[in-house]
Amino acid sequence: MVLPSLPRLQIALADLLCQGPAVEWKQPRGVLPTLDPGPNRNTLTRRRSAVDQSNERWLPVVGFEGVYEVSDLGRVRGVPRANSRGDRLPGKVLRGVRHSAGYMKVHLRREGRSHNLYVHRLVLTAFVGPCPLGMEALHRDGDPANGSLANLHWGTHAENVSDIIRHGRHLPTLVTHCKFGHRLAEPNIAAAAARRGHRGCLACSRARAYVYQVDGLDFKQISDRYYAEIMGA
Ligand SMILES: [Zn+2]
Repeated sequence: MVLPSLPRLQIALADLLCQGPAVEWKQPRGVLPTLDPGPNRNTLTRRRSAVDQSNERWLPVVGFEGVYEVSDLGRVRGVPRANSRGDRLPGKVLRGVRHSAGYMKVHLRREGRSHNLYVHRLVLTAFVGPCPLGMEALHRDGDPANGSLANLHWGTHAENVSDIIRHGRHLPTLVTHCKFGHRLAEPNIAAAAARRGHRGCLACSRARAYVYQVDGLDFKQISDRYYAEIMGA
């Protein structure tokens, strides 16, 4: 029996490895939170257990009082309640879902409807107060998954973008305009895109969110209006 020479074998192997079916990866949508199964059953719990939780403070989630609570360590749980025998049951901590830009989100239910919300916003709203007009939630250490109160504050959009650049997420400078002709420069930079390392058009991202809610709108017209507003025209 004649064995193929090593280079031939490598080529055959490379062919084999490249011929997998072309499957497009899709971000799963609408994943519901599963209840925390207890200590050390998932990586999130394991990682969090390194943080001292003995002084963890809990406050009601604004808008979900009596149903959910959020902590200064960025955890969300169902409100502790008593069972029929009067025993106090601890609230189950929600596991949360990591959003594509790295932020943690949780699904909260209220009156039969599910609400998919950013954990960092729940923390700031409960412990600091509602988001001041025109402000955004900022992460001091640049880690979007760190939703502890000590790491968060409300700040301006300009601060958010300069933080992202300061935290080493370099923005490519070759692209100067979005495909609708909006200049990709401060203040028209989408923070979520900047975190992923590219320049995203803030006007278009706001227009996408708006058009998503209302049918039959002209995207170009709406995004131009947002652009004018952002640039202070
Ligand atoms: Zn644009």
